[in-house]
Amino acid sequence: MPTGIYLHIPFCRIKCPYCDFNTYAGIDDQRPRYVAALKEELRHRLGTFQPGEFAAGSLYFGGGTPSLLDPEDVAELGEIAGSPAEVTLEANPGTVDLPKLQALRAAGVNRLTLGCQTFHPELLAGLRRLHDVKQTHEAIEAAHAAGFTELNIDLMYGLSGQTLAHWDADLDQAAAARPTHLSLYNLTIEEGTPFARWRAAGELPLPGEELQGAMYERAVERAETGGWGRYEVSNFALPGSECRHNQVYWSGEAYLGCGAGAHGFAPADGSPSHGRRWWNHRVPRRYCQEVEAGRLPEDGHEELGRTQAMTEALLLGLRTREGLDLARFQRRFGASPIELLGAPLKDFRARELIRVRGTHLIVAEHAVILLDSLLARLAPQVDRVDRSDSLNSPSQAPYGTPTGQSR
Ligand code: SF4
Repeated sequence: MPTGIYLHIPFCRIKCPYCDFNTYAGIDDQRPRYVAALKEELRHRLGTFQPGEFAAGSLYFGGGTPSLLDPEDVAELGEIAGSPAEVTLEANPGTVDLPKLQALRAAGVNRLTLGCQTFHPELLAGLRRLHDVKQTHEAIEAAHAAGFTELNIDLMYGLSGQTLAHWDADLDQAAAARPTHLSLYNLTIEEGTPFARWRAAGELPLPGEELQGAMYERAVERAETGGWGRYEVSNFALPGSECRHNQVYWSGEAYLGCGAGAHGFAPADGSPSHGRRWWNHRVPRRYCQEVEAGRLPEDGHEELGRTQAMTEALLLGLRTREGLDLARFQRRFGASPIELLGAPLKDFRARELIRVRGTHLIVAEHAVILLDSLLARLAPQVDRVDRSDSLNSPSQAPYGTPTGQSR
């Protein structure tokens, strides 16, 4: 069973105005204390398992800006995690150079993901990123020189002032950097961020839906022509370079999340709980206080009911190119997705937007761009049908039995 560990590093040099992640600028002095707490939490959580019960296949340093960590700490965290086969670290250009990347490589990091975002200085400036294009090129070169054979490049589209020509040039530059993996994200405007305020005030003109759609289509076409196959809506990889850690999330498998605001998940196929999700305190100082007091730093948890677990399985499965495993869904929930999704699915299949391919339900390539609207029609169907079946369903009993993974 694939399992993963996520470690959240909430430190950033500045807070980018579009970012709503749990990250903070100006608290660098808290870093040693935080890293000590992170090691302690990871040790504690792993110590709750019986031998052989949880073996992580992946470790992911996400943030925030994990490239601000000392390589010695990265090495120690990797050892505590049991030295998983895939160790990914997110890095921002401008925070790494060749010696730093060599040290991270020696510390066990074998997959680097670089937050390049765009190769156009004026678009980077619009995002208020700290790094410049020269630093992006230097970071890419240093990553290769340091021996990172698994390299991801993050790019964003839908930026203010971005044209299709900009995007084409960004995709060219990314391809020239010889990454094994591409993450191509649409800029989303998150409530509460400066970008949301600027947009509301009419100060942030963004490309329209049609142009954003064209950018996505171009991304898929260009990535696939270059050999990076799409394996999820926004993620593309050379064969064999798919990110294992992402696949843990999308396949609904267990993962541990450690650090401020991190989430963990333990699936279960039983009744009443179909899985348990928990999350840590978000504020780093509070998180550290809890760990230092010898407590698990959890701020809350939920038990997944059958409807919620089925909906999540559907949403996650259809995001991937492989699709939703029909037999696995049936085994987990005792229900056929085809019957459950009823008339809306029949309609989508008749229009060739969704199809059954072998043992999986998949979204047709040309319809991936419509995924959100397809899911918006399918998800309520699960809720409606499951509730109408619920009178005799033992899985609708009150929740409350933890699945026992985290404590
Ligand atoms: S560097 Fe990344 S994580 Fe940090 S504030 Fe900017 S977008 Fe958010």
